Amino acid sequence: MDSVINFSMGFDVCAIIICAVIMANYYSVRRIHTRTEKFFQGLMGSLLFSALTNLIYVVFIYAGNIPQWLFYLSVMIMVIAVHAVGIIFMLYVVSECYENRPLPKSFTIIAVALIAMTGISIAVYGFHNLMPDSAVDIIIAFMYGVHYVALLTGVVYVFANRRVLSLRKQVNIFIFIAFNIVSTIIQTFTSAQVTAFALSVAIMMIFATLRNPKDEIDALTQTFNAPAFRDFIRLQISSHRSFLLFVTGIRNFTAINALWGQRAEDVIKETADRLNKITDKTTYVYRTAEARFCVIFNTRGQYEKFREKYIAAMCENFMVGDAAVPVDRAAVLISFPEVAQKYSDIESILKFYRDRYSADGEIIEATREAVESVSRREKVDYAIQKALKLHSFQVYYQPIYDLKTKTFDCCEALIRLKDDELGFIPPDEFIPISEDNGTIVEVGKEVINEVCRFITQCNPQDYGIRFIDVNLSVIQCLQPDIIQDIMQTLRGYGVPRGMVNLEITETASAKSYALLQEHLNELHSNGFTVSLDDFGTGFSSVEFLINFPFDIVKLDRSLVWAYMSTHKYEPILQHYMPMLHSLGTKIVAEGVETKEMVEALNELGCDYLQGYYYSKPLPKEDFIAFLKENNKSVIG
Ligand code: C2E
Ligand code: CA
Ligand code: CA
Repeated sequence: MDSVINFSMGFDVCAIIICAVIMANYYSVRRIHTRTEKFFQGLMGSLLFSALTNLIYVVFIYAGNIPQWLFYLSVMIMVIAVHAVGIIFMLYVVSECYENRPLPKSFTIIAVALIAMTGISIAVYGFHNLMPDSAVDIIIAFMYGVHYVALLTGVVYVFANRRVLSLRKQVNIFIFIAFNIVSTIIQTFTSAQVTAFALSVAIMMIFATLRNPKDEIDALTQTFNAPAFRDFIRLQISSHRSFLLFVTGIRNFTAINALWGQRAEDVIKETADRLNKITDKTTYVYRTAEARFCVIFNTRGQYEKFREKYIAAMCENFMVGDAAVPVDRAAVLISFPEVAQKYSDIESILKFYRDRYSADGEIIEATREAVESVSRREKVDYAIQKALKLHSFQVYYQPIYDLKTKTFDCCEALIRLKDDELGFIPPDEFIPISEDNGTIVEVGKEVINEVCRFITQCNPQDYGIRFIDVNLSVIQCLQPDIIQDIMQTLRGYGVPRGMVNLEITETASAKSYALLQEHLNELHSNGFTVSLDDFGTGFSSVEFLINFPFDIVKLDRSLVWAYMSTHKYEPILQHYMPMLHSLGTKIVAEGVETKEMVEALNELGCDYLQGYYYSKPLPKEDFIAFLKENNKSVIG
């Protein structure tokens, strides 16, 4: 008997040591306490507790003269601990299967039922001293029955979700269950207390398959990294939790980096340190991009407390060596699920506010508008891609009136996009989006192609049209092979270069002046004419006008309307007109809507007029019909 007892104690002591070693390893590293991690902690704890109570039980047997009630208590605690291991193990396993997803309802019902049955059977077992042996046997059998059903439930879920679990994890889960069953049998028939020991070995193997917390830590700042952030947010969202996400970024980090190189990292590290200092242990700080940090709060109260400390903490100077670095910081607060609902909404919101951050240090509270505007943007983006694939962009033509010949001898090609879902999308909306996502080059090619097709199929030149204005986006204009592309297309259709006049906007000049000028000169020397569009908006670039001899300047609608409504603009325009004319430039006035405008602009000295007064942009058939009707004098 003695040898058996000593032998048993050895197992339990080993189990306690193993559990303690695992726990020491586990808790020595910072981790995100996800649901699965919490269950694993529960598993470690219950196992350690079970080994301890087992040991006490064995010691009591060994000691012999223990009061009846104390012995009884130790037995009960041991029974509770052993069965808790089974239940928590099941919760852990199923949670692993549903990592980053909520647990299924069906499982919750099963879990509650098993916990209830375990609790009831343990409670009944509490009266085992008063029961006949046969009844005690039944209740013990029932208790173990429930225990194995819990383990079996784990097996079923693992099997059903085998694709999401690594093979290694599956093997270790099965080893745990096999050890559990075999050790219980050994324990029952030999009274050797091996269960806790066997399970602690199995749990050590599972521990080795847990996510490596180092993979979730950012090496530079020791905060959690972007993948950890993504997983945590996804889990929060799928569990329908409401929370607040605080995002802070250094706007001028590129400049800081350019100035200080490697040492700019000090600013990042210092930011992380300050954020860590002002948050409590349960609030995680994540570094989600080079110079961006995120902090998650469960309640507004927590956030409000943080907010005050944040403002104070960020006011202090940031130093690189002895030099103070001016840090331009932006911050946004996003509430889930009121404002954002999906992980991708975060990026949308940050994109939306990128150019709208106000004073340094101010925290912007994101609104639904940000998500909606970006989602509209995404839809438009998609509509552009679709139209490109289906070649469904249309081109309308707006006649332009020549005041000297009193005919419509040119027109402007204007792109139209009609989408099944969004309906008509104005070019003012989709052209900037197309410029952003890089599709503008393709879109531009569609327009040139369509204009060439129009010229060869409908022969507008037979109805008095000398050339067609085609708008070029700045981005298009800066492409290295833009000129070759356009010339090749025209050649392909046999359209003479003089038939196409290219319009570029004034804002273009600011971006890449030299390259643009080079391309415009090349276009010019290849026989194209070029217009400066939207003159009078943006920066007035007299220098640009002089350095590049535009064939045509188009006075922007806003300038024309301003001229019509107030006398203040008279001297300005009266000053510009002769200057432009002396450069050999023709002048077009846009946005002409009334007869008075026609008269005033004629008097001012404009050469061409364009606007709704004459016609709105028309589909090609209607445009030809318009010419037939209004250009009779030139049609032979
Ligand atoms: P834009 O180049 O200044 O084109 C003139 C715009 O003014 C056209 O708008 C035209 O319909 C409108 N318009 C003409 N007359 C009047 C008028 O009397 N009153 C008013 N209120 N508006 C008038 P649309 O077609 O909506 O085009 C808007 C802008 O989209 C264009 O401004 C141009 O910058 C851009 N765009 C249009 N087609 C293309 C294209 O094929 N390529 C590129 N890159 N941009 C294009
Ligand atoms: Ca234009
Ligand atoms: Ca214009």
